[in-house]
Amino acid sequence: MPRHGMQYCLICNPDGNGTSGEDGTEAIAKYYVENIQDKDQITTGWHALCEGCTEYLQGTVDITPLDGHENHPLFSDDADVTHECDDPTWTKESLVTEDGGFDWVRCDNCNIWAKRYGMNQIQLVGETRDQR
Ligand SMILES: [Zn+2]
Ligand SMILES: [Zn+2]
Repeated sequence: MPRHGMQYCLICNPDGNGTSGEDGTEAIAKYYVENIQDKDQITTGWHALCEGCTEYLQGTVDITPLDGHENHPLFSDDADVTHECDDPTWTKESLVTEDGGFDWVRCDNCNIWAKRYGMNQIQLVGETRDQR
């Protein structure tokens, strides 16, 4: 099975073999293309994916972030942070109200971070507050 480079998106640069390509198509992830018998396939094995192709294919194939790209926004689940504590007690961590008009608060029970607007409008952030 041919091995492909993981520097450039193989979909955007079909002739580059993953080792060369156009600016802006640098790979951030990869997915595995099975070798299916009797199916006409140009390339199989690990395919590198750029940001655009990752977004396009996400949800349809199993995509693995490349080393160093695990924290790319495409792979973080910011949008669906869940909080399982019933009736949580929030402890205010901000000394002063932050730019944006919220206070950093943390759940006493599980330490999840959230932004609190006004008295009790909570917006979950996640395990660290860097995921803004
Ligand atoms: Zn691409
Ligand atoms: Zn909690």
